[in-house]
Amino acid sequence: MTQVLRILIIDDNPGDRALTIRELRREFPQFQPQEIREASSFASALAAGEFDLVITDYQLGWSTGLEVLYTIKQQYPNCPVIMFTNTGSEEIAVEAMKSGLDDYVLKLPNRYIRIPAAVRLALERTEIKRRATLLEIRLQGLLNQLKLGIFRIYPDGNFIECNPAFLELLGLDSLSQASAMNLLNIHEYYSILQKLPPPQQQEQEIQLQRADGRFIWVGLSIALNTVEGQQVLDGLIEDITSRKQAEIEIQQLNQTLEERVRERTAELEVANRDLAQRNQELAVANQDLEAFSYSISHDLREPLRAIQAFGSILLENQDSESNLENQQNYLQRIITSTQQADKLVQDLLEYSRLSRTEMPLQPINLSLLMIQILRQLELEITQRQARVQVEEPLAEVTGNPTILIQVVTNLLTNAIKFVAPEVQPQLRIWTEKRNQLVRLWVQDNGIGIEETHHKRIFNVFERLHSYEVYPGSGIGLAIVRKGVERMGGQVGVESQPGQGSRFWIDLPIVIDVNP
Ligand code: ADP
Repeated sequence: MTQVLRILIIDDNPGDRALTIRELRREFPQFQPQEIREASSFASALAAGEFDLVITDYQLGWSTGLEVLYTIKQQYPNCPVIMFTNTGSEEIAVEAMKSGLDDYVLKLPNRYIRIPAAVRLALERTEIKRRATLLEIRLQGLLNQLKLGIFRIYPDGNFIECNPAFLELLGLDSLSQASAMNLLNIHEYYSILQKLPPPQQQEQEIQLQRADGRFIWVGLSIALNTVEGQQVLDGLIEDITSRKQAEIEIQQLNQTLEERVRERTAELEVANRDLAQRNQELAVANQDLEAFSYSISHDLREPLRAIQAFGSILLENQDSESNLENQQNYLQRIITSTQQADKLVQDLLEYSRLSRTEMPLQPINLSLLMIQILRQLELEITQRQARVQVEEPLAEVTGNPTILIQVVTNLLTNAIKFVAPEVQPQLRIWTEKRNQLVRLWVQDNGIGIEETHHKRIFNVFERLHSYEVYPGSGIGLAIVRKGVERMGGQVGVESQPGQGSRFWIDLPIVIDVNP
């Protein structure tokens, strides 16, 4: 359907009106003219507003074309107005164009045909203007929806314009408040942009303080332009606070996560190391256990074999009476072997008990302890006519009395035992303070020990002599070492063959709580 084209023809001259209408009809079949001849019909047409374009003469009996133009543009700014006249000067034409006149056609015989073209042009131009306005409104709406703040500002910080979203974003009431508060710190951007090559533009994410003091993150895009010879900064800001906060949270989360992974890895490493150490200890313990069982069976078999051998001889010779002396001798040796086996088992039990029993520690007066031990050893001492010299006072130590008695007894027994038969055993006992430890020395004038054996004599069943020469189970020094270690100390020996030995044990000193 073709749209109706309604045009006001304002002209006092009926001939001119007819001519105009004829020309327009030719071009626009849907054309509907409304002829205006006096003020009243102009007023009612103006009130009704049912027209799309106005063609007016300049010289009217009741008004002028300029007046008509002003009135129309005032009420209908988008309505095109064309002046069709043979009067009026160039100044009037210029004045009219300035006031929004869309075209000016001279009333000359050969110019009538120009009217339709002028009308078409004016209508097209109005249509373009209308569309542009609509587009601008739509664009503005979209930008507001996007919450994009748009602004134009002079390099001195004075705002030229901005959209409502900009003011809302920064919590501002007006453009003048925006200029006064200088929230964007525009001078800084101006000096940066000035140094950039074209296009002088920059984009960045920054934190801004709003007019109410609240901080927000914005994506800022800013460009330096020249408008009518004047430098301006055109900018666009977008609120990215929630995204930025999410980013920061993720970053923090990542950091804590990394930290926790690091901590857990470190913990695992420590646990792994502990495990490896435990495994190693277990392997060593296993090896010890193997050697230990081997030694037990080996050492226990010795007296058992003797019992077996002498038992068999006795059985074979039980009828002959001549061998009575021999038989008694065999029986004696059987008894000795059972005693040896019994001592072995006893000592072993003692040793294994050492690893298992609770060992409460307490301050021990070594001088008093020594008197007690020497009393117990009186028989051995008298038998061997040993001389024991205790260098008083002996220091106090921290330990377990029962274990310590056993440890020191073993050391003293050995010191009396491992002395050449023709030599009188001479023992010297003293203590020495070393930092947090007390060293107890037991020195003898015995047969001495080669340096290569200094370590191994503290192991279970390590003996350097046959049972016949120096009887013993080979567990005495093992008990010494295990006992001292369980009390938090260490053991050792200094000795040379034929030069006597000096055994030592280190024990923790007594910590005085009330100095
Ligand atoms: P044993 O039951 O044989 O005494 P120990 O464990 O007490 O076992 O001692 C192990 C070995 O260390 C002894 O067989 C001996 O060869 C040597 N030994 C221990 N004490 C002394 C000492 N005071 N002088 C010389 N050798 C010693």
